[in-house]
Amino acid sequence: MNFFDTHAHLNAEQFDGSLVDVIARAREESVSRINVVGTTLSDSLRAVQIAEDFDGVYATVGIQPNYVSDAGSGDFDSIIELADRPDVIAVGETGMDRYWDRAPIELQREFFCKHVELSLRVGKPFVVHMRNCGDDIVDVFNSFIDRKPLNGVMHSFTGDECLAEKCIEFGLHISFAGMLTYKKSDDLRRVAATIPMDRLLIETDCPYLSPHPHRSHRPNEPALIRHTAACLAEQFGVSIEKMADVTTSNALRLFGLD
Ligand SMILES: [Zn+2]
Repeated sequence: MNFFDTHAHLNAEQFDGSLVDVIARAREESVSRINVVGTTLSDSLRAVQIAEDFDGVYATVGIQPNYVSDAGSGDFDSIIELADRPDVIAVGETGMDRYWDRAPIELQREFFCKHVELSLRVGKPFVVHMRNCGDDIVDVFNSFIDRKPLNGVMHSFTGDECLAEKCIEFGLHISFAGMLTYKKSDDLRRVAATIPMDRLLIETDCPYLSPHPHRSHRPNEPALIRHTAACLAEQFGVSIEKMADVTTSNALRLFGLD
């Protein structure tokens, strides 16, 4: 059995000085691959550095919607250059966020479109962050309808069944994080059960959102991913081994690593 943590912020300051241990614990828990995701230019550079330093660790580069107002004028050009690196397997995280409302929505949309275009140009999938703005996200997908099926992932998905269905229809993968395991997440678990198995991915989104029963474990880390995998397996009535196999082979195929 081996897991692919498709979304981890090992570049976050919470992991400064503990990366070697965190990655060793992940391997002990059969997490053989980890995708480290950038949220700013400097954070993306750090992700690429970590991917170079560790086997089985990859990078995703981009500017997260909550940080697009802070981006310098040349930052996205640097992301474009990074996207060509061999250890970089995806573009993002990108998307839109009306919850934190940290950047004008128009600017978020503009950056989201630029990331999708870059993803299409380099032939690597894009990683979508979506919070309280499913309709905006679908509008952007619709503007790329002539490029359907789109190659990307809705990360740490929290949308409803209708949004999930639209994303699947566009060709996207759906990734679930620790929130799936929470007592109050019955609705999300019901949505998860409707996703075609060949579109499912799992992630920790660490250092945030530790899964039940380790919610007090701070920071969250890749070694805890089995709890999310077990919960997802339960929704489908399959073993955790089967869910590990399915989600890992989905990720390898999506990121062009197979
Ligand atoms: Zn993230």
